[in-house]
Amino acid sequence: MPIPRKVTVSSAVAQRQAYRGELPARSLERLSSSLADDAAMLDVALEAGKSHGRQMLSGTIDGELTLRCQRCEGPMPWTLHVDVDLRLVETEEEEAAALHEADPYLVQDDSLPLQEVVEDEILLALPMLPRCESCENIVQAAPQEDRDEAVRREPNPFAALKDRIGKQKQ
Ligand SMILES: [Zn+2]
Repeated sequence: MPIPRKVTVSSAVAQRQAYRGELPARSLERLSSSLADDAAMLDVALEAGKSHGRQMLSGTIDGELTLRCQRCEGPMPWTLHVDVDLRLVETEEEEAAALHEADPYLVQDDSLPLQEVVEDEILLALPMLPRCESCENIVQAAPQEDRDEAVRREPNPFAALKDRIGKQKQ
């Protein structure tokens, strides 16, 4: 089955539904706005099911992306590989209990926005400050305070998302 926009969790888990296919990077709006070139195809292989009685969504996402260097704004090839291992929880209590041992995803109304989940997983995997090789060499050669200054000047649109997810995990 290709990658549907939404899936019904109860039946996907009961049928151990597998989703395999390509998703154009262009179709994921938040991701595409962070790429220098959004022509890439994402290889998605996910499977719903149960592990030790708990509902899971697991699999991988791969792709050859072209990021934008934060320093010179030039294109920068980058290989994406994400291992997805989400526990699908139904209540906030379950979510809190799962935090120590898994990445919980709070399902609402038995519906999982699969493409959105794929996009979130990719955004979390992207480097905070993508830098091409030549810029990286320049930054590494610079004194520490210049590097700190560079970080302050380059806000990353996904820092907020990472920050939010980081807080949830604590
Ligand atoms: Zn650069």
